[in-house]
Amino acid sequence: MSDTTTEREVNRDAMKVSDEVAISITDMNKWFGTFHVLRDINLTVNRGERIVVCGPSGSGKSTLIRCINRLEEHQAGTILVDGTELSSDLKNIDKIRSEVGMCFQHFNLFPHLTILENCTLAPIWVRKTPKKEAEETAMHFLRKVKIPEQADKYPGQLSGGQQQRVAIARSLCMRPRIMLFDEPTSALDPEMIKEVLDTMIELAEEGMTMICVTHEMGFARQVANRVIFMDAGQIVEENEPEAFFNNPQSERTQLFLSQIL
Ligand code: ADP
Ligand code: MG
Repeated sequence: MSDTTTEREVNRDAMKVSDEVAISITDMNKWFGTFHVLRDINLTVNRGERIVVCGPSGSGKSTLIRCINRLEEHQAGTILVDGTELSSDLKNIDKIRSEVGMCFQHFNLFPHLTILENCTLAPIWVRKTPKKEAEETAMHFLRKVKIPEQADKYPGQLSGGQQQRVAIARSLCMRPRIMLFDEPTSALDPEMIKEVLDTMIELAEEGMTMICVTHEMGFARQVANRVIFMDAGQIVEENEPEAFFNNPQSERTQLFLSQIL
């Protein structure tokens, strides 16, 4: 794990948190068969917040964020996204998925499609956006992640960092109001981590609501307004970054931080 920081000034003043609730999770529990993977999760995320989730491997971080766009189903408690409850109601699931973008450790680009086609596929087929408009939007976001010149290449021709930026651009093409990141830099070589974190910082500066599972503690200090520590399926501790890193409360948090910092 590394402590990559960006060299440029991070504009935290631009990262305004509104009073409006974006995500509200109440007494949420999830099991895989008999295995109780998430226990009594309570979490409210306001619009514009940047939450970093950390914790040991197997603590339930991925499962938690996958529950937020229903890649996993919870069995007890409630999850509200922009006021819509995630239940088995397919209409709600569609609505929430259209508002929540997700970016994974392994970029999950379609290898047989060009970068541009990766970015236009869902807008054209799911949103029924006209092809030309979808391509204009895709180029807009490829410029934003600083790789418009790669539009006609295939994922295999790009570096890992470039592929991850394409994955972020592809999510943005669906105009999400919330972005979930699951260890977006942990499969990358160190020199490519920074370019992906810089892209995420820019999103944060534009007011995107973000939940990021990451062990990039430099990023957490610079960007997060709250850090959440999970262990054994529970939220053990949460605090603003300074207090979280300088004065961790629980022994489990202290142990974790002593191992990664
Ligand atoms: P983290 O992201 O913090 O490493 P995960 O959310 O991936 O943790 O996993 C939490 C626990 O749930 C782990 O013990 C993992 O083995 C288990 N788990 C994850 N996905 C499944 C699944 N689909 N079926 C059964 N167990 C799972
Ligand atoms: Mg994980």
